Amino acid sequence: MGSRVIMECAVGGKFFSPIFSSTRSVAVEKRKLPSLHKKIKFCSSKFKIQASQAEAHLSPEAELQAEKRGSSTGVGVGELIWPSPSDGTPFWKKDFPSSGVSPEVFADVKDSDPKHIIHVTAEMAPIAKVGGLGDVVTGLARACLSRGHTVDIMLPFYECIQKQHIKDLTVITKYNSYHDGNWVPTTAYRGVVSGIPVIFIEPSNLFFKGQYVYGGSYNELEAYLFFSRACLEWMQQVTSTQPDIIHVHEWQTGALPLLYWDIYHHLSLKKPRIVLTIHNMEHYGECSKEQLSKSGLEGSVYASIDKAVDDRTIGHNPERLSLLKGGIVYSNAVVYFGILNGIDITMWNPATDIFLPVKFNDQKPEGKKFCKYYVQRGLGLASEGTQDGNHVPDITYKAPLVVCITRLVPQKGLHLISHAIKHIEELGGQMVILGKASDVRVQTEFEGLAKLHNQGPCIRILLMFSDELSHMLYAAADMVLVPSIYEPCGLTQMIGMRYGAVPVVRKTGGLADTVFDMDDQSNHNKANGYSICVCIYLFIFDRFVFEGIDEGSLNCALDRAFTYFREKPDEWNGIIKKVMEVDNSWNNTAGKYVELYHSI
Ligand code: ADP
Repeated sequence: MGSRVIMECAVGGKFFSPIFSSTRSVAVEKRKLPSLHKKIKFCSSKFKIQASQAEAHLSPEAELQAEKRGSSTGVGVGELIWPSPSDGTPFWKKDFPSSGVSPEVFADVKDSDPKHIIHVTAEMAPIAKVGGLGDVVTGLARACLSRGHTVDIMLPFYECIQKQHIKDLTVITKYNSYHDGNWVPTTAYRGVVSGIPVIFIEPSNLFFKGQYVYGGSYNELEAYLFFSRACLEWMQQVTSTQPDIIHVHEWQTGALPLLYWDIYHHLSLKKPRIVLTIHNMEHYGECSKEQLSKSGLEGSVYASIDKAVDDRTIGHNPERLSLLKGGIVYSNAVVYFGILNGIDITMWNPATDIFLPVKFNDQKPEGKKFCKYYVQRGLGLASEGTQDGNHVPDITYKAPLVVCITRLVPQKGLHLISHAIKHIEELGGQMVILGKASDVRVQTEFEGLAKLHNQGPCIRILLMFSDELSHMLYAAADMVLVPSIYEPCGLTQMIGMRYGAVPVVRKTGGLADTVFDMDDQSNHNKANGYSICVCIYLFIFDRFVFEGIDEGSLNCALDRAFTYFREKPDEWNGIIKKVMEVDNSWNNTAGKYVELYHSI
């Protein structure tokens, strides 16, 4: 829990100087103001989800029909055409109806004294999402909107954003924003995404051009410095917008608090207070003084220990700055997952999910098995009703399907993921990995694994990003594997649960806060998954907990989960229902943010 600290630094133009370290805890030294509140907060909840029963529309007859007819079924399954790997268009790339997601789902909670909050962010789900950052921004924004606040999101207008997902996209202003001695012509657009007003910032230079959110052929650090300033410029010079809160996220927008307090607050932008949320400390925006100067700030002014110098580089030649540290020093409040994330239960709702071939919910989970069958057929995995490619009239093929949906980076436990492939195959299960690697060596390693396994009946390794497929995989999965080495919060275990996939996780960070081991007697009422660190010894010695990142621990967790799945089907169905009932929504956690906004 060392990282779960909210620092409320009531700066008002006066700054604290955190002693920055590479560990997950942060010591804070007060510079000018008298008090600093350091709070440790942890949220868990037991609310029920509000899925509509009417929408999970499978009747037992329909099920029977579906099983008999195979390709097309009655109520709920409709004219479903089972996909195949030989389809010209893969099943996750077909046209889906638009989601029509609105913020109404939370409308029962209204806050008094609503605020105007502007999120300035590098990611937003679903249009510009790489990982959890995008989910969190969208989920939190929608939750606050529905509680009665005014919320806008400011996002770079990445070339890769698919414009058809933006409603009412219009140009609102053309203006100039400073970068490296020039004023760059810039266009601001307004549109609505998933019910949230979004302002898109599009510079006329090369920034944010390319096929993906990150990794274009421009200088990323400079592009985000430009973006941070262009957002303030838009508020100050162009629209005279005075939000109560500017909420920045990660290193990409870490320079905004510096630009705000040292430039724009001296102009006419007086009202806003700044919140910085750090989702993952691995990336901190290493920056030279010269690069920072390109934003219009004098880089050398920030090269001191109480401002933005990265303490770890002191004495090096040259010393480096860290945009994240600068953001910490210059923000009014810093959140390190002191507030547990939620998931957007409208976007992640198996009862209404536009990407699912058949919908389901905790009261009527039957549709889930059609989703599994659909994915198995579409990926060419052996499926219930077939074995070795031949039709088997009675359903005897009982392979648990494990999915792992992740960025393929060391944090996520790459050696455990590749070991899981082997062990799940040995156990007679199935595994689908949907992952994207940014490192060439990791990409090559997983390409090798894909080549080795993807022709067989039980493993698929899909090296790409696909939001659509991720929804279908969560719905199809019996288990979701999250073997992270460290995990500040983690969303995939929560999304998995929402879709009835039992989590198998390493006991670390947010995974330990949200997943409670099935065999841990001390937590029996909360039990909802499997911890990799809890070994089989638990049965024998009661509470003998084995902490580790070794393959044996992973094997134990998978073995236990597989045994349950196969030998205790009724209890397994009970677990599915239980995990689907867990409320990991923003309903609870958004309120913590609102309290924080008020407090600064
Ligand atoms: P992180 O933010 O560290 O990547 P989280 O668990 O917080 O991890 O969030 C990951 C989010 O990104 C989840 O919504 C997950 O479904 C999604 N995701 C990760 N990899 C992929 C992928 N290859 N394709 C589609 N969605 C992905």
